Amino acid sequence: MSVVYERVALIGLGLIAGSMAHAMRAHGLAGHVAGYARSSETRETARRIHLCDSIHDSAAEAVKDADLVVLAVPVRAMAEVAEAIAPYLKPGATVTDVGSVKRSVIEAVGPHIPEGVHFIPGHPLAGTEHSGPLSGFASLFQNRWWLLTPTEGTDPAALARLQDLIRGMGANTEDMEAGHHDLVLAVTSHVPHLIAYTMVGVADHLRRVTESEVIKYSAAGFRDFTRIAASDPTMWRDVFLENTDATLDILGRFTEELFVLQRAIRMGDGQHLHDYFTRTRAIRRGII
Ligand code: NAD
Repeated sequence: MSVVYERVALIGLGLIAGSMAHAMRAHGLAGHVAGYARSSETRETARRIHLCDSIHDSAAEAVKDADLVVLAVPVRAMAEVAEAIAPYLKPGATVTDVGSVKRSVIEAVGPHIPEGVHFIPGHPLAGTEHSGPLSGFASLFQNRWWLLTPTEGTDPAALARLQDLIRGMGANTEDMEAGHHDLVLAVTSHVPHLIAYTMVGVADHLRRVTESEVIKYSAAGFRDFTRIAASDPTMWRDVFLENTDATLDILGRFTEELFVLQRAIRMGDGQHLHDYFTRTRAIRRGII
């Protein structure tokens, strides 16, 4: 692979930025990767493991001369970071983000992006329940989707270049309207995370089953289903506070369906349960 951007700046050095650093290095996609994270402990760890070519003590320093700036911080921290780096962005540079919510990030970040700098929001549909600078790995994006939410005004050349980088890291990319992205992700990611967190909370509040029993006898259902409840609390707090409408819409539908199943169980309506599980199993089996 050839270099797509001479200089890339990663702001926030957690799972996603760390995986980007590894992937760009593995595929030779960037001439130089500069990094910044707010916590000095994270910066020290990143230096120790040589996560980037240079780690800076300020975001302003990290973005200097960068051709691509990636905002990889929790969704609610995006605006403050954008404001801090705005005066130091190189004309003609591209700023992208990897936030799990798009509409609110665009509203919060967009106004800070100076004239002559391209802003192309994005979201890699890839992750694990781990976080921090040690959690990244080069193959995280392999064969995963990376959605971009450009608008009619987005520069086609800047978009094509970002797409090249994304494909270079092994991901597939498609464009999507930001509001639609937030609804799709509410179904496929946000509400499932909320339900997983809730299931762990239910187990925690049971007085007749002890915590050690839950851990010791954790059967496939609980173990598989709640893996994502080990995810970073700050990241997920921000997702729910910023994707409120779509989350509440999908959560309302989920609750309605759950009540119907609850009723079927109470009424001994095996036919309803069997039909429902048959239909949903067929859908689930279609997901690789
Ligand atoms: P992470 O917790 O692993 O890393 C976040 C990093 O941001 C940390 O290094 C932290 O020090 C830094 N940070 C926090 N606030 C900051 C600030 N104000 N200024 C500078 N740095 C700051 O998180 P992550 O999983 O890499 O998530 C980053 C972004 O990617 C989030 O917006 C999240 O919604 C999105 N995302 C996460 C996943 C996932 O599954 N983890 C998947 C796709 C997208």
